[in-house]
Amino acid sequence: MARYCVVGAGLSGAVVARALGEAGHSVVVVDERARIGGNCATARDPATGIMEHLYGPHIFHTSDESVWAYVQRFCAMAPYAHRVQAVARGRVYALPVNLLTINQFFGMTMSPSEAQAFIRSKTRPCEAPRNFEEQALAMIGRELYEAFFEGYTRKQWGMSPTRLPASILKRLPLRFTYDDSYFAHRYQGMPKDGYSAMVASILDAPNVDLRLAQGFEALGEPFAHVFYSGPLDRYFDYRLGRLNYRTLDFEKFHAEGDYQGTAVLNYCDADTPFTRITEHKHFAPWEKDAFDRTICYRETSRACGPDDIPYYPIRLAEEQKLLRDYIALARATPGVSFMGRLGTYRYLDMDVTIGEALTASQRLLTMIAEGATP
Ligand code: UDP
Repeated sequence: MARYCVVGAGLSGAVVARALGEAGHSVVVVDERARIGGNCATARDPATGIMEHLYGPHIFHTSDESVWAYVQRFCAMAPYAHRVQAVARGRVYALPVNLLTINQFFGMTMSPSEAQAFIRSKTRPCEAPRNFEEQALAMIGRELYEAFFEGYTRKQWGMSPTRLPASILKRLPLRFTYDDSYFAHRYQGMPKDGYSAMVASILDAPNVDLRLAQGFEALGEPFAHVFYSGPLDRYFDYRLGRLNYRTLDFEKFHAEGDYQGTAVLNYCDADTPFTRITEHKHFAPWEKDAFDRTICYRETSRACGPDDIPYYPIRLAEEQKLLRDYIALARATPGVSFMGRLGTYRYLDMDVTIGEALTASQRLLTMIAEGATP
C-alpha cells in the first residue's frame, strides 16, 4: 500500500493526516518539535494549572459551517467572546474602534450617524489605498490612526506603516455601534481542554504514525505524496533567498489574583516596548475563578532570525517577486503539496487553515480514487 507523509503536526497536518488515515491510507506525520499543535499548542502551566497558549493567544472563530462542525467532532467548544482593550496615551479604550472608542477618545456623546459624519470629516478618501497608512487615513482619520495604530504597528512589524500592505489593517472592522466584539464571525469558541487536546484527537485516527522530535529530512523513505506545512523557502534550502517573518518573544510572569481583568490588553504607544500583555486564564472564562494566581505573557515582536520561530509572514511589496518564484518552484515540484501558514507564506486564521487542509486532502483522495498520480 502507498505511504503518505505529512510534515508538521499542527492544524493543517493533523487534518490531512486524519483524512488520509480514515480513508485507509498509511500516513507518517513528522514534526521536529517534541509536541503537537504547531503554534496553537497549549499546555497547563505546571505551577498554577492554568491553560497556557504556548505560542501566543489563539481564538477560534469562523462563519464556515462545515469547519465549525468539523472541530466539534474533536473537542467540546466552550463559549468565548473575544474582546480587546487598548492602552493609548495613558487611557484605556475598547478595540476594534467602535462608538465607545470614538466617543471616549474625542470626549463626545455622538449617535451612530453623528459619529459616522464626524469620522468622515476626518478621513482622507482613497479609492485604492496602497499601504497600511493610506488605508488607516481613509478609514479612521489621522488622530485615531496615530493613537491606536501607528505606534503599535511599528512595534509589531518593525517598519513604517507606509511600507506595509493595506490588507493588514483590513483585518479589523470600524463600527458605529457599541459592539466591541473583536471578531464578526458567526461562531466563536475555545476548545475546553486546549488546542493540543483538539489536535491530538484529530490525529487519533487509524493508520496514522506520529513521529515527534524528528526532522523530515532524516526520514529517508519514499512516499507516494508529501504534504508539507513547514516554511516554503526552507523546503528549497533557501536557494532563492529568505522570505521574511516576524517572530515573537514572550516574557512570562506569574501574579496573584487577577492581573489586568481581561485576556488581551494592547499597548499602542511607541514608547512602550511591548505590544500587548495576555492573561491566559481569561481565555478560559468557564474555569478562571478556580485559580487564585494568574499567568501573563508580555509580548514583543522582532525580525525572525534563522533559529527563531516564524510567526507572521510579512509579505512586503518587494517580497512579491521572491514569493512568486518560490511558488513557481513549488508548482514544479511533483509529489509535494505545500499547505498552511508557513507552507503558503500567508497569515491564515485557524478556520481557513482547517478548511484548506480539508480541501487539499479531498482533492488527493479524489485523484487516488480516479487512479491519477497525485
Ligand atoms: N493593530 C494596531 N493596534 C492595535 C491592534 C492592531 O495597530 O491595537 C494593527 C497591527 O498592525 C496588527 C493589525 O492591526 O498587525 C491586525 O490586528 P490583529 O488583531 O488582527 O493582529 P493579530 O492579533 O493577528 O496580531
